[in-house]
Amino acid sequence: MTDQSGILYVVATPIGNLADISQRAIQVLQNVDFIAAEDTRHSRHLLNHLGISKPMVSIHEHNERQQVDAVLSRLSKGESMALISDAGTPLISDPGYHLVKIAREKDIQVVPVPGACALVTALSVSGLPTDHFRFEGFLPSKKSARKTHLDSLKDETVTLVFYESSHRIADSIKDMKDSFGEDRQAILAREMTKTFETVLGNTLGEIAVKVAEDANQRKGEFVVVIKGAEKKISDPELESADALLGLLLEDLSTKQASRIVAKHTGLPKNEIYKRALGLQKNFDSSAK
Ligand code: SAM
Repeated sequence: MTDQSGILYVVATPIGNLADISQRAIQVLQNVDFIAAEDTRHSRHLLNHLGISKPMVSIHEHNERQQVDAVLSRLSKGESMALISDAGTPLISDPGYHLVKIAREKDIQVVPVPGACALVTALSVSGLPTDHFRFEGFLPSKKSARKTHLDSLKDETVTLVFYESSHRIADSIKDMKDSFGEDRQAILAREMTKTFETVLGNTLGEIAVKVAEDANQRKGEFVVVIKGAEKKISDPELESADALLGLLLEDLSTKQASRIVAKHTGLPKNEIYKRALGLQKNFDSSAK
């Protein structure tokens, strides 16, 4: 690429509430030479709302590979462009991956302009662990493939995040309940940032009932956030935790010993504390 290569801006747009666009996103959309959008008609509504009129090209899942060359050739001649999708952050369950990959391979500058993203928005209000999570996007549409996939995730210990549409939400929630159990903690975030925003909880069983009973809860766009499975502790892990606890309990309190062992092994504090109490009881009765 030449020194005059233009910049590819990857610009997030709102997921509902139009006020959720950043000042910087507006400036970039005003200043680029052209905008690539998933559905140009849909994005024109947003651009009209912002008072922006720009040449547009369409890049969607069916033409992205063919469009990449044409768009990159314009960038190599010094034009700059913004990539937007119908809603939220491009490339997140949206087109743009091939474009960004090839642009980077060709040393074209790719600049993020961050903003709304449904998965982060749902996680932020889920009340479920956010330190580790696994984004699964959309589940397979065929029931058997969906069920097989969900079953493969049932022992995953990190928080799981899924996207779902109104056509399949009831079936998917039911399948999630069957795979993960009705007591698994979860939330269903619907129509976030829009008029009918709702966040249902607290377990898959409760959500399944509400979605089945109330047709309104099946309307709109959805993110499902599910707590990970409890970590299963292996026998060798338990044996080495017990050995360490045994040593520490000779000099320390149950609380102190279990805190050190939980930290050292990474095993759950409450489980280690329970084992420490059991071991302590054994010591006490053998000392009598
Ligand atoms: N690129 C987008 C993002 O950054 O989140 C996602 C695009 S994906 C094609 C559309 C899916 O995102 C919807 O089917 C739904 O699962 C989720 N989604 C988008 N907007 C949403 C909203 N306002 N409330 C709940 N879910 C939403």
